[in-house]
Amino acid sequence: MFFIRLFICLILLSSAFTAQSAVILQYHHVSDKTPPSTSISPQLFDQHLEHIEQQGFSVWPLPKLVQHLQQGSTIPDKVVSITFDDAYESVYRSAFPALKKRNMPFTIFVATQAIKKNNQLFMTWDQLKEVTQFGATIANHTHTHLHLVRKQEGETNEDWRARLREDILRAEKIIDQNIPNTSKLLAYPYGEYTQEVQSLSQELGYVSFGQQSGAVGNAHDLTALPRFPMTNRFGAMKQFKLKLASLPLHASKVIPNQKIVRQPSISKGLRFEFDRKYAGISCFFEGDAVSIKQEENSIIVQQELTLPVGRSRINCTAPSSEKGRYYWYSHAWIRPKANGEWYKE
Ligand SMILES: [Zn+2]
Repeated sequence: MFFIRLFICLILLSSAFTAQSAVILQYHHVSDKTPPSTSISPQLFDQHLEHIEQQGFSVWPLPKLVQHLQQGSTIPDKVVSITFDDAYESVYRSAFPALKKRNMPFTIFVATQAIKKNNQLFMTWDQLKEVTQFGATIANHTHTHLHLVRKQEGETNEDWRARLREDILRAEKIIDQNIPNTSKLLAYPYGEYTQEVQSLSQELGYVSFGQQSGAVGNAHDLTALPRFPMTNRFGAMKQFKLKLASLPLHASKVIPNQKIVRQPSISKGLRFEFDRKYAGISCFFEGDAVSIKQEENSIIVQQELTLPVGRSRINCTAPSSEKGRYYWYSHAWIRPKANGEWYKE
């Protein structure tokens, strides 16, 4: 009897320490000559790979990770997936050799309209086909790289949905013509989505990704999985180490739950409801600490948040029982200009 009890205890203990989670990294350019907001230097990128290896992380192809999340299968601790948005030429020139050398699989989300012969900034279909021979997955990033959340003037809800559907399916068709049988994975351009966009992606059979930060876990909605955007700034080694080691924190409820905010601020009282109470949780908005109150499983923001025009996000982290590992949650907002028009991007 004692041994049975001991055995049950050990199982419970081990499941408590088995993180059912993974981290997805999102890169754009791997170059010193491209815009800083979407670029990482080849040197820093290589340091990331080195650290992933040194820390004993397994690099999984994204479809494998998605399959585990869909089936609720056990994901071992320390799993990471590497993704690139837009298929920039520097991914082929700088990132691919570094990944190939280390036998690391990766995924490229392609906005298909940009992939043409003689476009110096992007990879070609020949290059995209070549990388699939070395463990890469080519996935959907829409055809025209549109802002999915933006309705055009005078457009009905139905017309808007039809336009998005057409753009996503067009990319799907072009990818399929070049690289058949790829997984149905979609990265929302600019990481922008609303509930309506999520339901459309689900209707089309996609598992989709935003660019709100955080580790992924079983509780996450497969229509908006988080990824950590990586640039020289957000991927500096100190930050990278924390992000790679992070654990999932998922809010089952956000009140008020809005993605597009037309007023200039979010009033005091914003509430995030988690699966349990997280001791020592703290939140940051635009780089500043945010005053919060904890109430059972929820945290309530005790101040007004002034939103800039564009995208902004609140990040909350809580220490885990493992040193240096934090639960990580992020919620993003998009604000159009005061006159209701969308800013240029
Ligand atoms: Zn993109």
